[in-house]
Amino acid sequence: MKIADIYKSKSLTTSFEVFPPNEKVGLEEVYNCLDVLSLEKPDYISVTYGAGGNTKGRTVEIANRIKSQNGVESVAHFTCIGSKKEEIDRVLEDLERNNIENILALRGDYPVDRELELGDFNYARDLINYIHEKKGDKFSIGAAYYVEGHRETNDLLDLFYLKEKVNAGVDFLISQIFLDNEFFYSFRDKLEKLQINVPLVAGIMPVTNAKQIKKITSLCSCTIPKKFLKILEKYEDNPSALREAGLAYAIEQVVDLVASDINGIHLYTMNKPETAKKIIDATGIIRK
Ligand code: FAD
Repeated sequence: MKIADIYKSKSLTTSFEVFPPNEKVGLEEVYNCLDVLSLEKPDYISVTYGAGGNTKGRTVEIANRIKSQNGVESVAHFTCIGSKKEEIDRVLEDLERNNIENILALRGDYPVDRELELGDFNYARDLINYIHEKKGDKFSIGAAYYVEGHRETNDLLDLFYLKEKVNAGVDFLISQIFLDNEFFYSFRDKLEKLQINVPLVAGIMPVTNAKQIKKITSLCSCTIPKKFLKILEKYEDNPSALREAGLAYAIEQVVDLVASDINGIHLYTMNKPETAKKIIDATGIIRK
C-alpha cells in the first residue's frame, strides 16, 4: 500500500525506523527487532540507507522482509548524493522487483573522512524529480524536514527549498529529531502560511543514554532544552534512571504532539524494540 493512501484514510499514523546492520554482521538482530515491532501493528516501518557505513545493499532486502514476512508496509530510505543515474536506476529496479511502493527520498550527508565521487544529483529535490520522470506515480515519495532548520542553509532559504522539494511531488514529510515541541509548532505555522499541506510526521528519538545525546548533537542541530539538560545532569551517573527519565520525556513529547493534532509519530527505534513498545503502551497511540 502506498503511504499517500494511508494518510488519506488516517488522521494519526504510528511508524518506526530501523537501520541495516554493518555488512560484517548478520541480519538476525534486526529481524528479531522487526518481529517485535510488527506485533505493535504500526502503519509502516522505514529502513535507512547507507547512513554511517556501506550498508546500502541491505535496505531493499530488509524493506522487502518487513512487507512479505512481517505483513507491515515498508518505506525504503534512498539517498542520492554521489550517485550516478545508473546506480539510481539499478536501485529503483530493485525496489520495484521487491514490491516496495514507498521511498523516503534524501540527499544524504557529505562524508567527513573521504572525498565524494561526483554524482548526478545535488539535492533530494533532484532525486524526487528523477523518480517521477522515470517511474511516474509508481512510488509514494516522502522527504525530510528540519524544524530547527537544516544546518547548511539559513532558515528562510531552507523553507523555500522545502517548498520546492514538496512541489516536486512529495506525499509526506518526516522530521529530523527534535526535543522541544515548540520548534515543531512554530514550523508547522510557517508551512501553513506557505501552503505546504502534506502530512507532517514527527521523528521522535527516545534518548535513553548519554552516548545518544552526543550523537544527536553532532549529527543535527537539535537544541537540548533546559529541562532535558537537567535530566542529563541529574542522572549522568545513573544509567538506569537516565533511561527511565529519557523514556518519560519522549512519552510526554508524544502525548503533547498527539493532543496538538500531529499527523504521525515516527519513532527512531535504534533497533531497540523494547523502548518503542513502552512508548506505544504508555501513549496508546496505536489502538490494537
Ligand atoms: P535536501 O532537501 O536536498 O537539503 C539539503 C540542504 O540543501 C538543505 O540545507 C537545503 O536547504 C539545501 N537545498 C535544498 N535545495 C537546494 C537548492 N536547490 N539550492 C541550494 N540549496 C538547496 N541520511 C542517510 O544517509 N541515510 C538515511 O537513511 C537518512 N534518513 C533520514 C531520515 C530522516 C527522517 C531525516 C530527517 C534525515 C535522514 N538522513 C539520512 C539525513 C539526511 O540525508 C541529511 O539530513 C542531509 O544533510 C539532508 O538531506 P535532505 O534530503 O533533507 O536534503
